Amino acid sequence: MKSYHADERGYYGEFGGAFIPEMLYPNCEELRQNYLNIMAEPSFQEEFHQLLKDYVGRPTPLYLAKRLSEKYHTKIYLKREDLCHTGAHKVNNTIGQILMAKKLGKNRIIAETGAGQHGVATATVCALMGIQCVVYMGEIDIARQAPNVARMKMLGAEVRPATSGSKTLKDATNEAIRDWINNPVDTHYIIGSVVGPHPYPDMVARFQSVISEEIKQQLKAIEGRENPDYVVACVGGGSNAAGIFYHYLDVPEVGIIAVEAAGKGIDSGESAATSALGKVGIIHGSKTLLMQTQDGQITEPYSISAGLDYPGVGPMHAHLYASGRGEFISITDEDAMQAGLELSKLEGIIPAIETSHALAIFEERKFNPDDVVVVNLSGRGDKDLQNYIDYFKL
Ligand SMILES: *Cc1c(COP(=O)(O)O)cnc(C)c1O
Repeated sequence: MKSYHADERGYYGEFGGAFIPEMLYPNCEELRQNYLNIMAEPSFQEEFHQLLKDYVGRPTPLYLAKRLSEKYHTKIYLKREDLCHTGAHKVNNTIGQILMAKKLGKNRIIAETGAGQHGVATATVCALMGIQCVVYMGEIDIARQAPNVARMKMLGAEVRPATSGSKTLKDATNEAIRDWINNPVDTHYIIGSVVGPHPYPDMVARFQSVISEEIKQQLKAIEGRENPDYVVACVGGGSNAAGIFYHYLDVPEVGIIAVEAAGKGIDSGESAATSALGKVGIIHGSKTLLMQTQDGQITEPYSISAGLDYPGVGPMHAHLYASGRGEFISITDEDAMQAGLELSKLEGIIPAIETSHALAIFEERKFNPDDVVVVNLSGRGDKDLQNYIDYFKL
């Protein structure tokens, strides 16, 4: 049977792989040779699941959103990743990777961050384990995301500004890669989404797959069946989406819906809708769909939501798009903001603006009254309050 999971070389169809400079090869190779064995160790599984339970607060609820369901005449469940410690799904991955780093004998962690959410999730687990943490962040992002910079510092991390290029996420990533090349023995690089060279996309997807593992059990208990009709998630790099899709990838009767940020509109020149606008290219060590100029230079993405503002998409999602297994919908800033306000008023849940994109599909696309649709509520909106205030003049 055709599988939508990574093969042993880290390919999803034609996408994925490890396109890395020779000097980075030993680091990735060490990880590649060990990650599956380490993850299979009972001691690893035990510690991972213990921390997910007692520290992160898992399992997160699967909540039937009654008023939202009534409005859109279908059965909508929300997977409450917003209730995870630190307020989003990202910590599922950083918990997994810090344990991986410890098993590999590493005593120093580096990470890249854009909006600061992954930086905070990384600094959190480093504090938990008493491990040194350096987070690279573009100089412009440091200025824009002051509260998250303060959080990282409180948690004991060092935040190093990336001062080259556009001084944003991709420059921070370049700095992190440079650091890793210079510190191959003692340092582990925690990548924050299902992007980067093999084995990162597969490893991160496996850590996040706890989301769909729980949904299967929860839905079985509530609805008497493991499979919903649809799973829905927003896609920046694609980790919360990979988590909710994971156990349904090879179950064709479950529809997979990926929601990208259209920004000010797909044709506006200010967008982050990678599947619609991207072409095949290589970014951060992976062959995938990528927004680029005719000369192959990466173009700056735009979205009102900092977490969806990424010029590429993980190779799993590039393959879901190219193969037609996934349905891709792009949502503008305006429609996302309205959906965020609507969820707040209908259900008493203020979502992250990233998540609001996923919620906006109900205005775009009709479902049947007896469809069971599970939306990944990837994060809470506290971090976005100022954005909501400015937008709606609250
Ligand atoms: C970072 C973030 C995203 C986007 O990242 P993915 O890797 O695509 O999941 C989505 N939602 C929230 C709340 C985030 O913090």
